[in-house]
Amino acid sequence: MSLLQKNVSLKSLHTFGTDVSARYYAQVAHVEDLLDLLSNYPAEAEDILVLGGGSNLLFTRDYEGLVIHPSMLGKEVVRETDQHVFVRASAAEDWDGLVAWSVSKGYGGLENLSLIPGRVGASVVQNIGAYGVEVADVVDRVEAVSLQTGEQVIFRNEECTFAYRDSYFKHQGRDSYMITSVLYKLTKEPVLCLEYSDLSAAMESCPQADIAAVRRAVIDIRKKKLPDPAEVGNAGSFFKNPVVPKVLYDRIKDEFPDLPGHRVSADMVKIPAAWLIQQCGWKGKRVGDAGVYPHQPLVLVNYGHASGKEIFDLSQRIMWSVESEFGVTLDTEVNVF
Ligand code: FAD
Ligand code: NAP
Repeated sequence: MSLLQKNVSLKSLHTFGTDVSARYYAQVAHVEDLLDLLSNYPAEAEDILVLGGGSNLLFTRDYEGLVIHPSMLGKEVVRETDQHVFVRASAAEDWDGLVAWSVSKGYGGLENLSLIPGRVGASVVQNIGAYGVEVADVVDRVEAVSLQTGEQVIFRNEECTFAYRDSYFKHQGRDSYMITSVLYKLTKEPVLCLEYSDLSAAMESCPQADIAAVRRAVIDIRKKKLPDPAEVGNAGSFFKNPVVPKVLYDRIKDEFPDLPGHRVSADMVKIPAAWLIQQCGWKGKRVGDAGVYPHQPLVLVNYGHASGKEIFDLSQRIMWSVESEFGVTLDTEVNVF
C-alpha cells in the first residue's frame, strides 16, 4: 500500500494550529519506508519537509511539496561505562517522555530540558536549550538518511556545528536529511546546573537537590510562564535572544539603565529579546487573532483563527520596532515555511 497521501490537513499536526495543508504527506515508521517513498514520490513535489511535533514551525501558506512525518519509536541503553550511559532514542519519541524516562533511571543531563514540546529528531535541529543547558552538551551522534540520495549518514557531535539554538540542520543540512535517531551520552553521577535565577530560587526550598527535583522545578516554572499549545496556539519563543557587541549593549544601557544582559564572551552580551519587545510596547498586544503572549512577550500566539501570514506579519512589525528603537536585529527562532 502506498504511504503517500494527497492534500492532507496539517492543522492538528503543528502547535500554531493554523489551517494549512500539504500537497503530499507520508508517515514513515522505518528507514525502508523512506527509501521506498523517495524512489517513488512524484517529481513535481520538489520540496520535502520533515515534520516532527510541529512545535517550532510556522506555515505561512499551504505546503506545496511533500511532508514526511517520521513515526519510528524506541529508546534503549546501548552502552555503559563507569560514568556514562549511551541512550539511543528514535526520532519520533516524545522529547519530554525521554527526559522523564532518563530522570526516572537516574541518568543526568536532560533534566533542565524538561517539558519542552516536540520529538527527539528535532532536538538536535535547533539544539534545544533551557535553563543553561543545551542538548549539544549530551549528544554523542545523530543518525540520518539523506533525502537526496537515500544514503544513511552518521554525524558526530562536532559535525553538527551546534551553536546557540542552531545547528548544521538549520543551514547547509536544512531539508536535506531525515534524522532517524539520536545517541545521547548521559551521566551516572549528575552535576546539577542551577545557574538561572528562577530555577535556583525554586530549588532553595527543596529538601533534596537531585535531578528529579530539578525536573519538578522546571515543570512548575514553565507551567506558570508559558502557554500550553493545547489551549492557545504557539511555537514557544518566536525570536532568539540577540547577542550583541558590548559597545552596543553599553550604549543602550546608558539610555535604559534597567536593560538586562548576560555576558557570553569578553566583548559580546546576550540581551533578553522579551525585554526589548516589551519596551517597544508589544507585550499583550493583539492584531486580530494573532498576538503577543501577555506573560512572555517572546512568544507569539494564535488566539483562534489567525493565519500563518498574520502571525508572520506581526513578527515583522515587532522586529522592525526593535530595530528602529534599539538598533538590534532580532533573528527568528521558529522555522518559517
Ligand atoms: P518541528 O516543529 O516538527 O520541526 C522543527 C524543525 O526541525 C523543522 O525545520 C523540521 O523540518 C525539523 N525536523 C523535525 N524533525 C526532524 C527530523 N526527524 N529530521 C530532520 N529534520 C527534522 N525550544 C527550545 O529550544 N527550548 C525551549 O525551552 C522551548 N520551549 C518551548 C515551549 C513551548 C510552549 C513551545 C510550543 C515550543 C518550545 N520550544 C523550545 C520549541 C520546540 O519545542 C523545540 O524546538 C522542539 O525541539 C521542536 O520539536 P518538534 O518535533 O516539534 O519539531
Ligand atoms: P528567564 O529565566 O526569565 O531569562 C530571561 C533570559 O535571560 C533568557 O532568555 C535567558 O537566555 C537569559 N538568562 C537568564 N539567566 C541567565 C544566565 N544565568 N546566564 C545566561 N543567560 C541567562 O527566561 P524564560 O523566558 O523564563 O525561559 C527560561 C529558559 O527556558 C530559557 O533558557 C529559555 O531559553 C528557555 N525557553 C525557551 C523557549 C523556546 O521556545 N526556545 C520557550 C520558553 C523557554 P536563554 O534563552 O539564552 O537561556
